Amino acid sequence: RPRIGVLALQGDVREHLAALEESGAEAVPVRRESELATVDGLVIPGGESTTIEKLLRAFDLFEPVRERLREGLPAYGSCAGMILLADRVVGGTSDQTTLGGLDITVRRNAFGRQVDSFETDLDVAGIDGEPVHAVFIRAPWVEEVGSGAQVLAAVGEGAAAGRIVAVRQGGILATSFHPEVTGDHRVHRLFVQIVRESLDAAPGHDAEG
Ligand code: GLN
Repeated sequence: RPRIGVLALQGDVREHLAALEESGAEAVPVRRESELATVDGLVIPGGESTTIEKLLRAFDLFEPVRERLREGLPAYGSCAGMILLADRVVGGTSDQTTLGGLDITVRRNAFGRQVDSFETDLDVAGIDGEPVHAVFIRAPWVEEVGSGAQVLAAVGEGAAAGRIVAVRQGGILATSFHPEVTGDHRVHRLFVQIVRESLDAAPGHDAEG
């Protein structure tokens, strides 16, 4: 079983841990560098991206997480987690910095005040079967996608139709929405699969073992 960490500073940590366990991973909370060192992948939950950034620094995790992402650690970011994984952010505070890794520009709180939170069904590339029921809570959207990143889903209907809300670049996956709250674990299963593939591809991996 791949060992996947959930950054446990703010947000739906318990729900992500449960969804990962039910998707075939060993899931562990990550609050310190020694815990980060043991994981094969990392989930960054939603919350408030500037608060998570401050907590990452307070827990001496900002640079270590950034370093592991640079080395190719697979990561999945939901909502604020997507913002933290984006290389560029607009619509927030000017001094906001991110971990980066995804060649995208995200717009914070993009869907506007009237529609602070909403739900819709999405077709997500790489997820078969029924559309994914997506819950958005003061969510960002992806405003620009660099050449390295792949669009997995866009909103299909309403005022926000066409807005990009799920992307992937190599081992990094991000969604504007919160799959941990719906009981549908297909996004988590996709991430567990991404982590498995990265382990299989790692140098020194023994295919028989
Ligand atoms: N609005 C938050 C931010 O900008 C994200 C909201 C969420 O993660 N649910 O960081």
